[in-house]
Amino acid sequence: MRLILLGPPGGGKGTQARLLSEKYNIPQISTGDILREAVKNSTELGRKAQEFMSQGKLVPDEVVIGIIEDRLKTSDCEHGFILDGFPRTIRQAEALNVKLKGLELNIDIVLDLLVDFDELIRRLSGRRTCENCGNGFHVNDNPSKVDGKCDECGGKLIQREDDQSQTIKKRLEVYRESTEPLKEYYKKLGILREQKGKGNINDIFKSNCSIIESL
Ligand code: ADP
Ligand code: ZN
Repeated sequence: MRLILLGPPGGGKGTQARLLSEKYNIPQISTGDILREAVKNSTELGRKAQEFMSQGKLVPDEVVIGIIEDRLKTSDCEHGFILDGFPRTIRQAEALNVKLKGLELNIDIVLDLLVDFDELIRRLSGRRTCENCGNGFHVNDNPSKVDGKCDECGGKLIQREDDQSQTIKKRLEVYRESTEPLKEYYKKLGILREQKGKGNINDIFKSNCSIIESL
């Protein structure tokens, strides 16, 4: 199964992608995670990406397209994958299409998580992320058992640089401008499915699973 998770920053793509990846045993490919890892290790890619990310801007298309092309070559993608945070622009979507066509593959479904603006701000500003494993928490909705520590690995919980309020606004603007048009793009291809993104995480997960299993 090849799946794209679409939706705004804070929409829950990462959370759902993790759950789906575990259940269906296919990799979660998050361009955000790959970029953050590169920043952390100050690789060449990381140095290129950092200033865009910290300002809430998109990293240039050719950079992320390159990342995805490399990642899709890895053998663990043979039985499918979940794209989380890619594509984010029409150009990225087109590049993905061309790439998959060349491999005689296609995307089975695009799940679009719908969450209203106020809820996104609330989620992003309360979000805490494990510095070590990337696991997400929320100060009110989903606090860690021990304050400031990841439940899974004990890593330190931090607020992502781009989860500061000014940057959040910018990311939402960028989303509206560059990413929202993808809905129309995938609707035309007949593979877009809208999904309520607000509510209990596990209920949303179950509903995503039934959509997938009805394919
Ligand atoms: P969120 O979806 O909550 O904004 P991500 O972890 O997916 O978080 O992305 C964080 C940042 O990484 C984005 O604001 C952007 O700068 C960069 N990024 C991630 N994916 C892409 C992409 N496909 N194209 C361009 N930039 C990206
Ligand atoms: Zn952790």
